[in-house]
Amino acid sequence: MPLSPMDNLDKISGVGEASIKKLEKLGIKNVHGLINHWPKRYVDFSNLNKIIDLSPGNVTIRVRITNPKTRYVRRGMNITEAFAYDDTSRVKILWFNQPYRAKSINSDIEYFLSGEYKLSNRNFSFINPALELVSDFPVNTARILPVYNLTEGIKSSDIRKYIKFVLTNMKVEDIFPKDFCNKYNLISADRAYHFIHFPENSDQIDEARYRYSFEEGFKLMLASSMNKNEIDLTDAHRVKFNLELAKKFIEHLPFKLTDDQRLAVWEIYKDIDKVHPMNRLVEGDVGSGKTLVAAMSALMPISEGKQVALMVPTEILAKQHARTFDRIYEPLGLDKEIALITSSTSKKEKESLISKIKSKEKLMIIGTHSLIEDYLQPDELALVIIDEQHRFGVEQRKKLLKKAKYQPHLLSLSATPIPRSLALTLFRDLSLSKIKTAPNKDKIINTKILSRSEYNRTVPEIMKLLKAGQQMFAVCPSIDSEKTKSVSQVSLEIIETYKDYKVATLHGRMKQEEKDKIMEDFLNKKIDILVSTTVIEVGVDVPNANIILIYSPRNFGLAQLHQLRGRVGRGEHPGFCYLINEDNEPSSRRLESIETYNDGFKLAEIDLDLRGPGQVYGVFQHGELDLNFFNFRDIKLIRTIEEAVALFMDKRYNIEDFELLNKEINDLKKITNLN
Ligand code: ADP
Ligand code: MG
Repeated sequence: MPLSPMDNLDKISGVGEASIKKLEKLGIKNVHGLINHWPKRYVDFSNLNKIIDLSPGNVTIRVRITNPKTRYVRRGMNITEAFAYDDTSRVKILWFNQPYRAKSINSDIEYFLSGEYKLSNRNFSFINPALELVSDFPVNTARILPVYNLTEGIKSSDIRKYIKFVLTNMKVEDIFPKDFCNKYNLISADRAYHFIHFPENSDQIDEARYRYSFEEGFKLMLASSMNKNEIDLTDAHRVKFNLELAKKFIEHLPFKLTDDQRLAVWEIYKDIDKVHPMNRLVEGDVGSGKTLVAAMSALMPISEGKQVALMVPTEILAKQHARTFDRIYEPLGLDKEIALITSSTSKKEKESLISKIKSKEKLMIIGTHSLIEDYLQPDELALVIIDEQHRFGVEQRKKLLKKAKYQPHLLSLSATPIPRSLALTLFRDLSLSKIKTAPNKDKIINTKILSRSEYNRTVPEIMKLLKAGQQMFAVCPSIDSEKTKSVSQVSLEIIETYKDYKVATLHGRMKQEEKDKIMEDFLNKKIDILVSTTVIEVGVDVPNANIILIYSPRNFGLAQLHQLRGRVGRGEHPGFCYLINEDNEPSSRRLESIETYNDGFKLAEIDLDLRGPGQVYGVFQHGELDLNFFNFRDIKLIRTIEEAVALFMDKRYNIEDFELLNKEINDLKKITNLN
């Protein structure tokens, strides 16, 4: 019976229940998973030598083996010794704790023996070499051998054996048409599997890798291009641009819009004045004034009597936004449209608000995740704004935009920009607005990595600022873990160092009311120093807090560090960010770059280089997207793929004709779709 990719592992010769459990540990669930378990590296044993010509290193010899004998050395240790010989010489081999060798070796048969030829105990020998009957297609010897990620009880040689069985017994179907492969110099899927797992030379590895990187990139780009097409076919509520209203709004602002804000708002107004939904991300550093862009965007639909939802990741932020919107909408009398719903809204109030939302008495709905529960009527929503967009998982976003005749326009705000290379491939359906200059143009947060003693020397300066009435954050990676600096540990330290100041702690394990109370107290200067976890990371605005200490900074991502320091220097005074490098470890490129660069866009690119796309951008948080070969930096390949995607988009190829490809693309569309 021929195998097929979705077959269970027990169809593979030699795989029993025990091995299935182990393979599952490696994330291998079926035949497809097995052959997509990629080699992490290769060892070259393709050099076939005569014994007399051997030089130290990884080599293969073709030999007969005599006299295998196992002796017991001590408890738990036995050694099997033998000699391998060919027509030129002989060499000693040793296996540790492999007594079955002695029984299985047949002295009349020729073997390939692969291993490291090296000096031990003054003699050249092989220790624990691989042995295999001579054949035209050796799997574990005499070739370039793939090395796999393993788990207890599974060896690379097992995996090779299983994969060999699959590739011999399965007809691999290609997701790409043949002429397409020819056009783009891609080897067939079948060859690619052989070349990646059983390469005859390094060129074959390269050819396979090229095919797989093309394939990964192609699928992503086709999926997101198709998403874009679909958005362009969906209906949305068209929101007319009202120049008078925009002017009036701006007149009442206490400041002038920055150029970037103006451009972003203009792009949004143009987008929502269309019958198809907008899908736009406003990227701008912390403090660049994205909230105002959101408020101005919501202005138009509200003035037409349409509803807008603003979704934020934390309660504190929801309240802060409600206050901001309240303030800037008041002059136009729109403040009465605001409904704030969070998990701490009382049941009674919530009910009243919900009925007002249903009857469209309230048009501007602000809230946390609870929003995505059942309060909103998707058909009525003209615009959905998601703040700190990177904090939301794909699933959460999708729930908000559930099935409806009309899709709302979608505006996402993020301080973690999508690196250009990701935008080019994964998010082709996304329009970007960048806010490059903050209102306070030359505001730089002074950032320094400090050793413990350097920090101690800085304390008097910090004290001076506190004395002048300024406030400070101290952020730790954990609440009470002993592996890193923790809120409980640091708060004690801080209380001791800064005796005259009021210190409070804030972390995710506290009750919502407690957290809110502390945040309020901090805002109202009843607290001088707030020791917390990253719960303060997101969007909170305390203009009087100008110092932030970050403990165990290695435990934070670059984007996160940048977000954290964006909490300070938001008022009239300069901001200071101190990364306290307790262990005096040499500072890493990551930490140094946060010291050097103040630009979030630049840092996002560096983060992508250092950590890879999965870590940087939350979409792949749950491992939905397995990228093993595709390099987001390979602009030349991206161009080639763009051309190939176009063939499908303009129907020179019809994707419906390619069942396998179509299925895979449909799955990917769900992941790459921000909508
Ligand atoms: P973020 O982009 O991080 O969400 P905010 O929207 O919270 O930034 O804005 C940061 C601060 O800048 C706020 O106090 C806001 O009132 C102020 N602000 C926004 N736009 C301007 C502007 N054009 N001129 C001056 N201050 C501005
Ligand atoms: Mg914000």
